[in-house]
Amino acid sequence: MNPVGKPGKTGSLMPVETALARLLEMADATRVLERERLPLAQVQGRVLADDLLSTLDLPPWPNSAMDGYALRTADWTGEPLVVSQKIYAGQAPEPLKPGTCARIFTGAPVPAGADCVEMQENAEVLADERVAFIEAIKPGQNIRPQGQETTVGELVLPAGTRLGPIEQGLAASLGCAELDVVRKVRVAVLSTGDELIEPGQALGPGQIYNSNRVLLCSWLQRLGCDVVDAGILPDNLDTTRTRLGELKNVDLILSTGGVSVGEADFLGIALREEGELSLWKLAIKPGKPLTFGHFRGVPVIGLPGNPASTLVTFALLTRPYLLRRMGVTDIEPLKVQVPCGFDWPVAGNRREYLRGRLENGRAIIYKNQSSGVLRSAAWADGLVEVLEGRTLVAGDSVSFIPLSEVLV
Ligand code: AMP
Ligand code: MG
Repeated sequence: MNPVGKPGKTGSLMPVETALARLLEMADATRVLERERLPLAQVQGRVLADDLLSTLDLPPWPNSAMDGYALRTADWTGEPLVVSQKIYAGQAPEPLKPGTCARIFTGAPVPAGADCVEMQENAEVLADERVAFIEAIKPGQNIRPQGQETTVGELVLPAGTRLGPIEQGLAASLGCAELDVVRKVRVAVLSTGDELIEPGQALGPGQIYNSNRVLLCSWLQRLGCDVVDAGILPDNLDTTRTRLGELKNVDLILSTGGVSVGEADFLGIALREEGELSLWKLAIKPGKPLTFGHFRGVPVIGLPGNPASTLVTFALLTRPYLLRRMGVTDIEPLKVQVPCGFDWPVAGNRREYLRGRLENGRAIIYKNQSSGVLRSAAWADGLVEVLEGRTLVAGDSVSFIPLSEVLV
């Protein structure tokens, strides 16, 4: 880490990976360990606290994958077979009488003694009600074996898995009515800036509407956090001290604004007085200035205030930090390699995350990439990553991070 309170040497920017590694290290050291037990229907967006081991074989018994006839392959000589029982899903069958077949429906247990199911399309019911089979029959065919999905004791979902509809469905298939999940991480959101007012109020001279507050609050909710909306913080040291002091019982204070070079950084001063502060100059664009520190023991992340910078630094640094504090193992967003549909003639010294979208399989970018233009991200489907020192001509391969990957 940089010496407390000292920005990095001018010109020496911290690579995104380094910043992320430091944040994750700090997140690991302050992982939220408390847990709660919730009904399965309420675990959406939460993080599994313990490994989920299967308590049963799934399926519990061999069952039919088709509507058709269950029989023993050895019994079939080419002659039609008598139907000795009918088995619907939900029934417990009798063992199959030798030399007969059983009418069976999808999901019904295969009777003991049968070793295959022939689908009804390949069977013909004769006038005497016996069934003739048209094709060669193979043992095991159309049977879903016991335990094909999972067997007793198998690890089905590891602790640290984020739970969504698929995981909920899987847990339900194993009979789980409740799951232990990590308690929600509580995040206080502060927007700093004398120029900010809330939507709904009339705009005065020099004022702008606060867009970061609602953007971050709703994003944090999607990530499964408890959000404490701490409102707007004026650019004033006394108020900063007081308002920070009021934020008790939170796991993180997340602020935006007030970290630009040359600005009176009241958040920074307050952290230096009553905690600790690192100011990072990151090799990221939009972005660059980022504050990490503590206020009276509570971790604080200060993001740059320009909305596109807030978005990118939240997506790439704060989101993984928060997920890691919840114990999530898989925090890396999917990146796809795509050909770019634009030229990038001038190499930058910061890694750029251009707001772009895919058109005919190529990444194109919004016409205005200013860090103040949030519309670029509303237009975009993803972030096009252009590495430091890199130029591009149309057709070159670039990484594309779908926004859908990081918005949850
Ligand atoms: P700062 O990081 O405070 O220097 O802010 C950089 C730019 O972002 C300035 O143009 C601010 O007006 C703008 N800004 C800061 N916070 C917000 C916010 N919450 N909503 C919208 N714009 C903001
Ligand atoms: Mg400001």
